[in-house]
Amino acid sequence: MALTGAAFSAVLLLWAGALFVFMKPLVARWREPVFRHPVLVIESDDWGAGPPGQAAVLNRLAETMSRVRDSRGRPALMTLGVILEVPDGPRIAAVDCAGYHALPLTDARFDAVRAAMQSGIAAGVFVPQLHGQCHYWPPALLAAARRDEAVRAWLTAAEPAATEALPSPLQSRWVDASVLPSRPLADAEIHDAVANEVSVYQRIFGHRPRVAVATTFVWTGAVEAAWARMGIEAIVTPGRRATCRDASGQPGCVDAAMLAGERSLAGATYLVRDVYFEPALGHAPQRLADGLAERARQGRACLVETHRFNFLQQPDASLAALEAGLAAALVACPTLWFAAPADIARAIRQRDPAWIETRLRPRLAAWRARLDEIPRFRRVARLTGLALPLALLGGRA
Ligand SMILES: [Zn+2]
Repeated sequence: MALTGAAFSAVLLLWAGALFVFMKPLVARWREPVFRHPVLVIESDDWGAGPPGQAAVLNRLAETMSRVRDSRGRPALMTLGVILEVPDGPRIAAVDCAGYHALPLTDARFDAVRAAMQSGIAAGVFVPQLHGQCHYWPPALLAAARRDEAVRAWLTAAEPAATEALPSPLQSRWVDASVLPSRPLADAEIHDAVANEVSVYQRIFGHRPRVAVATTFVWTGAVEAAWARMGIEAIVTPGRRATCRDASGQPGCVDAAMLAGERSLAGATYLVRDVYFEPALGHAPQRLADGLAERARQGRACLVETHRFNFLQQPDASLAALEAGLAAALVACPTLWFAAPADIARAIRQRDPAWIETRLRPRLAAWRARLDEIPRFRRVARLTGLALPLALLGGRA
């Protein structure tokens, strides 16, 4: 009897030790809000200034989204991460890349693109958000063009360019990646650039952006501070903040990790976008439904990343895959809500009881479902037997 009691105490001590070691990520996932319903939004970046073929495909996307309704009868939502300018190639060529000239989204050449965006916004299927004035840092692009013939050809092309064709490091707006590893920008430059792009966005859409998503997910605390000063309430992240391009050109210098609902130092609410659905890369429709079902088990809103290039390169196949993916999502989670990121962030901030779970059992089950993502925790829980009591909380499929 004494031996059994001692063994039991030893096991409890072991469990307490394991919980103590993983205290920080465990507590963070307990504090993270739990959504009462499955929540889904399709997040699509890179729209705006760029190839004129966007207008036709945006109109088709709006039709596709309108055909799909959630349990409240609301249409499927797609955020448009908007880019507000591309290079004016002929003008840059005329000065031999000695200076930069922009072709803004307000140019008459983009009338049809703007009209397609506005029509989808009016129909309640598109929600614009700030991706950036441009999908690069202009001085970095000019510097690269002086050395690299391919970048020079891109920068001076006669037709509005697709930034997807640029070398990946140069697609980051908030660093100078003309050299690798990239160099940081001055805070004052960032502040001025953000103030400018927010006012341009406001002139086009009639209101300031509330949500920002950095190009290539490379941004810094200084960018967040500038966004906050200009009224950005929510920042879409991949769950970590990369602040540079490293020596090999990859996003690096990660200085923060975040869960949905955590606040930036400057006050904005972080959201996490971590389901990737790029039909042109071979992603099947079921991937969207599986991503949603997993986030729903975790009590998380599901933000799905997809890019313009899918719909420009393979419009028929990508539109069909998106519609099939949305249909599969409704089968997997019939009670799902389509919702915009700004509304998701507001619900989190206000702990809106219509959205956010307060009952203990569902919160415990969602917490349990989140634990497997903590590096090494699953293995430790299995080896120590802690997995057994945790399994009683539910949360597994
Ligand atoms: Zn982008």
